[in-house]
Amino acid sequence: MKITIIGTGYVGLVTGACLAELGNDVFCLDLDQQKIDILNGGGIPIHEPGLEEIVARNRSAGRLVFSTDIAASVAHGDVQFIAVGTPPDEDGSADLQYVLAAARNIGKHMQGFKVIVVKSTVPVGTAERVGAAIETELKLRGSNATYSVVSNPEFLKEGAAVEDFMRPDRIVIGCDDNSFGNIARAQMKKLYTPFNRNHERTFWMDVRSAEFTKYAANAMLATRISFMNELANLADRVGVDIEAVRHGIGSDPRIGHSFLYAGCGYGGSCFPKDVQALEPTAQDYGQDLLILHAVEAVNTKQKQVLGAKIMARFGDDLSGKHFAVWGLAFKPNTDDMRAASSRVLLGELLRAGATVSVYDPVAIPEAKRVFALDFAENPELLENINYAATPMGALDQADALAIVTEWKAFRSPNFEQVKTRLKQAVIFDGRNLFEPALMTDLGLEYHGIGRSILT
Ligand code: NAD
Repeated sequence: MKITIIGTGYVGLVTGACLAELGNDVFCLDLDQQKIDILNGGGIPIHEPGLEEIVARNRSAGRLVFSTDIAASVAHGDVQFIAVGTPPDEDGSADLQYVLAAARNIGKHMQGFKVIVVKSTVPVGTAERVGAAIETELKLRGSNATYSVVSNPEFLKEGAAVEDFMRPDRIVIGCDDNSFGNIARAQMKKLYTPFNRNHERTFWMDVRSAEFTKYAANAMLATRISFMNELANLADRVGVDIEAVRHGIGSDPRIGHSFLYAGCGYGGSCFPKDVQALEPTAQDYGQDLLILHAVEAVNTKQKQVLGAKIMARFGDDLSGKHFAVWGLAFKPNTDDMRAASSRVLLGELLRAGATVSVYDPVAIPEAKRVFALDFAENPELLENINYAATPMGALDQADALAIVTEWKAFRSPNFEQVKTRLKQAVIFDGRNLFEPALMTDLGLEYHGIGRSILT
């Protein structure tokens, strides 16, 4: 099938590459010339396991092209995926300017029937606004071209995006129940047939319910995390091991084991913004989202938990202190630093006078870019960040190690080396990677999240 993907970011690039891998003829559009140049030069602008090979294979097979040419992109695809960003606006609501700009571009150039698929995460009612934007452009040029707007939210996880796209738990598609909607449904069915070979994974629904499903999924996951973090903080006070509790409750099939890990808060481009974006929607309809308000408040506080533990141990004034930080990306297997907990921790440590040595397997270039923005008002603090080339290299002369991202490479370090390299053998583990008893046996002072068992 002839597919256009508008927006070649995490979601757009993975969607385009994976659909090309299945034999479709895919045109990826982005307005960011630099991104398109990187892709056309054989590079890849993001870190995502397995993606580079798929992009290279399909580019050389001629099934995947990258361009900034809007008219050509609209002409190409019978199905036009909108996968542009929906960042938070000032009031937390989803900023739809990129989605609506993409819709207007389609309206300006489309000739025949097009299926417009909104893949970006958007509030309920956005498909109607996309349709209205297209309609306005069609009227302006007296065109009677036809279209149907479909909602097909994306559930992939950064770091496992290719695997998630190729083997989705579910595919949610919202289509209108009218003649154009029926044509669109048939096209979507055809496009997603390869994903439904072993069993049907597609959930068909109306457009508004599909839009809402994406927010509901992310809000549920964020709720589980904040719930466990709140209990972990209490566990720390009352002398309970939250990891034991996690096993104890996760074995109940009504609860399940997934997404019950206490830690130093969730970040990334989706959970924080999607939880926030539901609130203005609810307010528009006169409802307070009490649970989600708390989920967000708990998470904001949780991002400060490592800094608070460090200051409780070393004092509020950290002048002359040096800390090693392992992990900068918001989660493993990605270089994405959007809303990463490491940014909060670094802000706290540097502003309290400390110096830091940081290590991340892939996120250091992106970290340099975002820290320059975070410390734009006090750029002198940037000089207090040393970027280490190895995890062990970050430890030298540090008063403690703080672990922020649960990269696999951090799970079984040579603890003897950790101990000898650190100036003080103290670990603040923001992801509960290690067993407190083992750490004590090794002579390491260990501070996890919700693991301060009274002895
Ligand atoms: P991103 O910021 O990585 O990429 C968006 C891209 O769109 C950018 O490259 C930008 O230059 C481009 N763009 C903006 N306006 C454009 C236009 N008019 N025409 C062409 N290109 C344009 O964003 P992302 O992380 O891929 O997220 C995209 C959407 O998918 C968001 O709504 C997000 O909430 C949702 N989503 C993201 C993830 C994730 O893990 N990143 C997962 C599921 C859903």
